[in-house]
Amino acid sequence: MNWLSTIIRPRIRSIVNEQKDVPDNLWSKCPKCDGMLFHKELKASKNVCYHCNFHMTITVKQRLELLFDDAKYEKIALPKVPHDPLKFKHRKKYVDQLKDAQSKTGEREALVIGKGTIGGQNTVVAAFNFAFIGGSMGTAVGEGIVRAAQEAVQTKSALIVIPASGGARMQEGMLSLMQMPRTIIAADMVKEQGLPYIVLLTNPTTGGVSASFAMVGDIHIAEPGATVGFAGRRVIEETVRETLPDDFQTAEYLLDHGMVDMVVERTKLHHEIAKLLCLLMSPTTDTKKLKGSGYGDQSKDAKGKNSTSTPKTKGTKASVRKASDLAKEPANKSADTQKNAPKSAKTSQ
Ligand SMILES: [Zn+2]
Repeated sequence: MNWLSTIIRPRIRSIVNEQKDVPDNLWSKCPKCDGMLFHKELKASKNVCYHCNFHMTITVKQRLELLFDDAKYEKIALPKVPHDPLKFKHRKKYVDQLKDAQSKTGEREALVIGKGTIGGQNTVVAAFNFAFIGGSMGTAVGEGIVRAAQEAVQTKSALIVIPASGGARMQEGMLSLMQMPRTIIAADMVKEQGLPYIVLLTNPTTGGVSASFAMVGDIHIAEPGATVGFAGRRVIEETVRETLPDDFQTAEYLLDHGMVDMVVERTKLHHEIAKLLCLLMSPTTDTKKLKGSGYGDQSKDAKGKNSTSTPKTKGTKASVRKASDLAKEPANKSADTQKNAPKSAKTSQ
């Protein structure tokens, strides 16, 4: 069969001149290992290099389809905000830059909000589009995150934010920086209702975005190899005058240093997030039931663990364990301190 496919078929093709019909973009190259990637296989692997596991960028549409059950979701429109409030102009007018980005991406802004279910749990996802002026956060993006949080609260849904951003949008000056506290408040709105707030850190998450809502998730998930940090590597090296480790500011480095809870491969994201949401929200997000278990009653539990960074399932489990352990504890403690005989006697009682 080999000679048929390797010799005969190409010859026939050359005769019939079929090669002209073969598109040039059948293959692409991995930016990390230079491996050749067949586009169909690359599509199947969700834009992850199957030679070296490098996670390439995917479009926001692909990202949302990847996460939601059956790739189905409803898009939520971004609130309207004044364009170019500062009448900013550098090499190009900011208004023109916005128009170019809009025609290039087909989106109004650098954020897309979708609503649907993940693992059967109601979820609102706000995903950044890096192709839109570097996924920078201006007034529209900030307003979008507030809108996504409001939607999550109103529909008792989990909120997942997926940053892919160079930081604040400098063309909007101070107004872009004001989105940092605003988005933190938006995240708090969700947490105060006892709803999960998950951040999926993708490549890159830097600047004002990493310094605001992206670092206050109940759970931080990152894609392998994603760059996550505030200032760039060069700036830090020049400031501290030290050579930084090669894997500095990568998802794996942050996992080792406690900034990230999980590093999850793209193909497993849906499954892992679904599992988390089921743990955090099932059997229901009925706050009456959840309040009794310590879940969603963060303001009252504020004396205990920091509710902003502790996954709520841990809180629930801990509170359940505490109750049962407290009953057993005196018996166990006394058993441990005394001889074996009373221990077995007590346990048998
Ligand atoms: Zn590769």
